[in-house]
Order: sequence, then C-alpha cells, then structure tokens
Amino acid sequence: MSNPLHPTKIAPRQPATGEALVQHFERSPVGLILFGPDRSIVAANPATLELTGLSSAILHGAKLHRFLAAEAPERLEARIFDEVDETGRWMEQMDVRTSIADASPVMMSITLVGRAEHPAAVRYVGTIIELGQQRWIENESSRRAAELAALSALTVATGSSHDPAAMLRAAAQVIVEGLEVDACWIHRYEESGRKELALAGASSYLHPTLHLSPRMKPDAVNPGVLRAIETREQVITSELLDRSIATLVHAPLLAAGDVVGVVSILSVEGEKLATHNSELLRAVSYQLGTAIQNIRLLEAITEHQAQLEAKNEELEHLVEELRVADRLKSEFLATTSHELRTPLNSIIGFMSLVLDGVCKNEAEQQELLEHALRSAKHLLELINNVLDLARIEAGRVPFDIRDVPLQRLLREVGDTLEVQARDKDLEFWISPGPADIQVRVDEVRLRQVLMNVVGNALKFTSRGHVAIAVDTPVGAPFVEITVEDTGVGIDPERRERLFKKFSQADASTTRRFGGSGLGLVIVRELLEGMGGAIRIESEGEGKGMTATITVPRSGMTDEDSPSATAG
Ligand code: ADP
Repeated sequence: MSNPLHPTKIAPRQPATGEALVQHFERSPVGLILFGPDRSIVAANPATLELTGLSSAILHGAKLHRFLAAEAPERLEARIFDEVDETGRWMEQMDVRTSIADASPVMMSITLVGRAEHPAAVRYVGTIIELGQQRWIENESSRRAAELAALSALTVATGSSHDPAAMLRAAAQVIVEGLEVDACWIHRYEESGRKELALAGASSYLHPTLHLSPRMKPDAVNPGVLRAIETREQVITSELLDRSIATLVHAPLLAAGDVVGVVSILSVEGEKLATHNSELLRAVSYQLGTAIQNIRLLEAITEHQAQLEAKNEELEHLVEELRVADRLKSEFLATTSHELRTPLNSIIGFMSLVLDGVCKNEAEQQELLEHALRSAKHLLELINNVLDLARIEAGRVPFDIRDVPLQRLLREVGDTLEVQARDKDLEFWISPGPADIQVRVDEVRLRQVLMNVVGNALKFTSRGHVAIAVDTPVGAPFVEITVEDTGVGIDPERRERLFKKFSQADASTTRRFGGSGLGLVIVRELLEGMGGAIRIESEGEGKGMTATITVPRSGMTDEDSPSATAG
C-alpha cells in the first residue's frame, strides 16, 4: 500500500531540506494538497483532513471537484487547472464541501511545480486556508464583546437610578438593545403578600398589542413563568407571533436565595437567543435580581425613614405640648398662690388687729371681723374656681349631654338672679324664645355658664338694664343666647384678656366688685366641652356689654356644631 506522504514519493534532492518540508507538510495549520499530473490528489496533510472531515484514504486519488461547493464543480476544477497550467498559479476564495457543512468558505491557491513529462511526480501544490473559522472566531469575539458591553450597560442602568421604576424600565431597554432581541419584560413580586407578579419594566419593538399580561398570577397565566419560578432555572418556550415563531426565555431573578421576579426575553429570530448562552442570561438575571433586592432595601429604608420622621415629628409635637403645659402649670401655680395669698393676708391682718385689741369699740371689732369674713368667702370662691378649672382642664368633668328645654332653664336662672336685679334697681328682661326650642347640653354646666355670665352682667351694671334673649336662626344647627347689659363695658383692646386666667378688666375690679378672674375662663372651657362657644362685644368703657353664648340645637349633627361657626 502506498503512502502518499512517504518521503520517498516526494524525495527531494537534498535530504535535510526534504525532511524540513515533510515536517512543514505534516504540521502546517494551513491545508496542503499535492496533485499529480493527472490533476488527482497524491497527498493531503492532516490540516486538510481536519478541514474537510474526509479521510486520507478517500482523498487519495480523488479529484478537486470532489469537495468544491459549486454548481458545476467539474467545470470549475477544469477552469482552475487550466489557469494554473497557463499562468503557473491560481488563487481564489471559494466554498468547499466538508463533512459538517455544505459550504465552508476557504481561500484556496494552486501552484504549478515539477515537470509535465515526469508522470509519477507532483505537478501541482494546493493550499487551503479556512475562512469560516476565522469569521466564526471574529463573530464569536465581537458577540462576546457585545454581551459584555450589554452587561456593563445593565450594571450602570441598575446601579445609577434611585427611582426603582425608572431603573427597571432602563434595564429592560438595555437588555433589548444590548442583546439585540425584540422584547424584554421584567416582573417582580409585589411586596404585599408576594402572591402576584407585577410588571416593573418593559421594552419592546413588537406591536403594542403584543405583551405579556401586566399582572401575572404564576399559577394561572404563563406556565413558562411558573416553571422558571418553580425550578429556578431558565425556561425556553416557543410562542406563535403572527405568522412566525418566536423564542421566549424566562429566567428567574434570584436575590439572597429568593425568587424576587422573572425576566422574560423574546426574540423573533429564535437562534439569536440560542446563541446567547445561558451563562449570559444567568448573569443578566443575577444582576436584575440584585437590583430588585436593592430596590426592596431602598424602599424599606425609605419607608422606615418616613415612619421615623413622622414619629419624630409626633414626639417633637408632644414635647412642645408638654413644655407649654408645664409652663402654663407653673404660671398657674405662681398666679394661684399669689391670688390665694392676697385674701389670706387680709384675713390674717384683720384677725390680728382684733386679737391685738386695737379696736376702740365693739362696732369697730365687728367691722374688722366682717372684712375678714368677706376675704374668707372670696378665698373659698377662688379655691372652688381653681379646683373647678383644674378638673375641667384635666378632662375630668364628664358632660352629661341631653336635650334640654331652653325656655325652662332660662326662667330658672332668671328666677334665681332676679333678686339681685331688684336690689340694684335694674330692669331685668328675659325673652326665652319659642317654647319648643331644645338645646343639646349638660344642663348643670349650661346653668353654671348662664349664672356666671348673667351674674357678671348684673354685677357690672349699676344703672339701666340686663336683658337675656334667644335667637334661633332658621336652619342653623345652633341657638344663640345673648346677655346684654348697660354696665361698665370694656375697652376693645382689653376684651381678649378677659379669657385669661385671673385677669380682670383692671386691678381695681376685685376691690370694687370682687370675683376671681376665673369665671369667664371656666365659662369658655365648659361651653367648648359641650360644643358651644362664647363671644363678648362692647363698644367701650361705660357703654355696656353683650355676651353671646352659642350652643348646639337638638336634632343636629356634630359637624354642624357652633364651635365651627361662632368665634
Ligand atoms: P370674675 O370672677 O372676676 O368676675 P370673670 O372671668 O367672670 O371673673 O370676669 C373677668 C372680668 O371681666 C371681670 O373682672 C370684669 O372686669 C370683666 N367683665 C365680665 N363681665 C363683664 C360685664 N358684663 N361688664 C363689664 N365687664 C365684665
């Protein structure tokens, strides 16, 4: 059996050079073929065998057209060799048939060597350089580069935004553009309950009507998604899209061992997704999973921060309230003790005078004791009012709110105070309004209010009249009781002070009229506690005063309460 590669068959004249050429023939990565004068193959090197996938036994004696991928390979072969015979050489890019491909691009050259008259010798030498492989390597490396670029763009997209929605939208777009696919949808589990996947980002070149359900229950709509979640592996499905079949890959998004969502990538050219190896998709889904995890953390932190801020604000508010309450309490204590000390000092003073025996006679002693008694009564009134106010402010006064007939209540108050009016020779009128008018109040507390306000009117009026009237505006949810007098009145600028604790219109008032300066404060607190209000009007000193008390009318709702309307 003849071996075409045996050195004796192509014996060179100088053995050393021949040996080197044989080694080159054996080891060259370029395919080398030797042809005899009859244009049939004498020998082919291992690179040629690898390239064509044919054995040396088949190649030996075969003609070139045997593996030319052309329409008329025999004619092409004749043309090639004719050209070589004529010009000594030929080189062209063409397709050859190999065991794995019908047409694989190569660069082929054939050179004329030896002498035509030597029948056994080599007449032509051919070289074959595989171009397909070259191109495949180029394609592969540029594809890898594109994938890396896409991945790094994704890293930038998922790392740069603090807005989760914008970030996932950008990620979907980067995937579509970077991987040159047709659509990408990113679904993430909703925080509440983790039952539903919600569309968090999408980018698509497809017709807008073609999209995955924005809200997919994994157990119902898309089996591919369900499988990806269950198996934690990529799931490839084929989807009928118009008249073509698209490839859809679902990849679970994992973060800290948890499935946090699914990325679905669709390509109309199915092989595009097949060429992107699963490693790349794994990297993409890892990147997205981490991004979603970061979003969750960010959302949790933001929410936590908002809660903390709200709590802080609440606390600050509370601290401020406490501070104010504390200051008021201290002020109240200081003023109260001062106010209590005044009558107490008077009592001590008068009693000391009596005990020291400074009185000339019994009548003088009697007078001093009467002063002491008046101071003691004033002290008692003060203490009662202070306790009353403290209880109201602490919210310890329960209001027993019921429907109370206003006319009856006003008559009772009038009957009680009429004596005072008569004593001072004042006219005292009551217009108690319609008989059926009822107010929703605590009867005892409203009586206390009226006694105080009407009592004040009588106290501060020495001439003229005190008049009580009832106004029931049609449809209004409240009733107005006005107490008008022709007494000392009050300066407009001092009017507001009347509702301050222990404040009387002026310091001489106590001396002239007695009183604690707490009456109106208690009145206002009581009215507000029942959903009512009070306002005071006076045109000035000596011009009398009108107090208007507003209370809820029976049969009205809370929202209509007068405190909202009366000032
Ligand atoms: P007091 O217990 O001292 O009467 P009030 O709070 O009831 O305390 O009243 C505070 C002050 O308001 C009174 O001292 C007085 O100066 C003024 N005042 C109250 N009612 C009238 C009125 N009808 N006319 C004039 N001044 C009034």
